[in-house]
Amino acid sequence: MGKRGILGEGLMNLFFPQHCTSCGCYVTFSHGYPLCCECECLVQPLRSPLCTYCGKVLPSGKAMECLRCRVHPFHFDRARAVVNYSGVLRAALHAWKYRGVISLTPFFIDIMTAYLREHRFLLEVDFVLPVPLHRTRLYERGFNQSFLLSQQIGDYFSLPVSEKMVSRIRNTKPQVGLARKERRRNVSGAFQVEEGTSLRGKRVLIVDDVLTTRATVDSLSRELRRVGCGRIYVIALASSCSAERGGDSLSREIPRR
Ligand SMILES: [Zn+2]
Ligand SMILES: [Zn+2]
Repeated sequence: MGKRGILGEGLMNLFFPQHCTSCGCYVTFSHGYPLCCECECLVQPLRSPLCTYCGKVLPSGKAMECLRCRVHPFHFDRARAVVNYSGVLRAALHAWKYRGVISLTPFFIDIMTAYLREHRFLLEVDFVLPVPLHRTRLYERGFNQSFLLSQQIGDYFSLPVSEKMVSRIRNTKPQVGLARKERRRNVSGAFQVEEGTSLRGKRVLIVDDVLTTRATVDSLSRELRRVGCGRIYVIALASSCSAERGGDSLSREIPRR
């Protein structure tokens, strides 16, 4: 860095000091995003064994798929989340999503692109699809977090991003705090492929920030299946381990594929 660069960096640090969104310590501007190295190291990748289909962490043993996928498969083909949704990561995601700390985006994107480079089968798709937000929620929040991630992933891997093909036709309650069954009911029928959009045989990568019960991406996938989509993959930044044990309700309201 030249003298002018050092001076510029010094001025930025002086006038726009950055603080770690997790521990509050001072972070230099050149670090790139407001999360210190110590906190960054606390972000844990999800460890195998994972369910082959939905990517939930399996307790242990030889099973390749979770009980839910065995008895009542989701409508997507594969879902993967990269890191554990707890501690530092949860704090950072909340700051990003609810306090608009958009400068954290490069941190999340680095994690997701590194994972996708290693798991390239998830990229064998025709386009990237962000989970749509209802327009009321979009207005309140000011941005769609899934779209922000999708855009950057699309840019990085040269894949088109579709923002307009699917809409969220119901302004569902936030999934946080709802029981599993309620979550599924809450997002059931929430999405609609726009009329005149042909998705027959198209392969799609859905991008979301957090997966818990997977009810939202399942509902979206169900709508994509209805219009004849081909392979449906899901990638998310994080997933909570605590929600992974056992199966969801095993009701058979949705027939097996
Ligand atoms: Zn920190
Ligand atoms: Zn599973």
